[in-house]
Amino acid sequence: MIEITLLGTGSPIPDPNRAGPSTLVRAGGQVFLVDCGRGALQRAAAVGVGAAGLSALLLTHLHSDHIAELGDLLITSWITNFAPDPPPLQVIGPPGTAETVAATLKAFGHDIEYRIAHHDDLNAPPPIEVHEYTDGQVWDRDGVTIRVAPTDHRPVAPTIGFRVESAGTSVVLAGDTVPCETLDELAAGADALVHTAIRKDILAHVPQQRVQDVCDYHSSVQEAAATAARAGVATLILTHYVPAIAPGQEEQWRALAASEFSGRIELGDDLHRVEVHPRQ
Ligand SMILES: [Zn+2]
Ligand SMILES: [Zn+2]
Repeated sequence: MIEITLLGTGSPIPDPNRAGPSTLVRAGGQVFLVDCGRGALQRAAAVGVGAAGLSALLLTHLHSDHIAELGDLLITSWITNFAPDPPPLQVIGPPGTAETVAATLKAFGHDIEYRIAHHDDLNAPPPIEVHEYTDGQVWDRDGVTIRVAPTDHRPVAPTIGFRVESAGTSVVLAGDTVPCETLDELAAGADALVHTAIRKDILAHVPQQRVQDVCDYHSSVQEAAATAARAGVATLILTHYVPAIAPGQEEQWRALAASEFSGRIELGDDLHRVEVHPRQ
């Protein structure tokens, strides 16, 4: 079984009820944070997961809403790990990730100095290992494997989706993307697909061009559902709702997805949890 928790179902627009994009994946005793939008660590704390308890941080891309909490995560995973010689935090993302992590550590350079000066048992900056990939296997530990493939969120590039497999169960995390062949291949036959969903039917009527621009590099609810159908997944999990799902409108979103996909459809608020089992 792989357990998916939608830590943050929001978007770049601050929302009192939705944290920024972030999904927790628990598989085979390992814990993966996929993207770390605003408020991700607070939501993770709500399900008993701390920054120091992560097996790895997986980043689909470097848009601000997906990495807003990176600085807090890098520092907090360091200062809350009380092991004598903790292993480095594993960060896996597309090319550009190492530069972003290095620049973030630089931004927190004063903080890191203060803490090393103050605590006898902190003698070095946060131990972090960054791995950049656009394709192929990126993780193989204790029965959990992770594979990535390119997605299409241009002009944001490169961007990647993740496929996590454990004990015969597979979950694909697409991130922000328009439908594309490489995502179809990555998701083929998976038990569940977690996908960003944009209401293009609503955004198309917003007068600001900058809001309408959001449509051309994301999938609509129907497009995400069509991807799920082509890939033959059993469960579609929608997240990163733009605009936020208004109270009482969940069924409307679900119906749009059901117009293209006949499997199980999951959506909801932050901390919505989905257990993914291998299909019978
Ligand atoms: Zn994005
Ligand atoms: Zn996004």
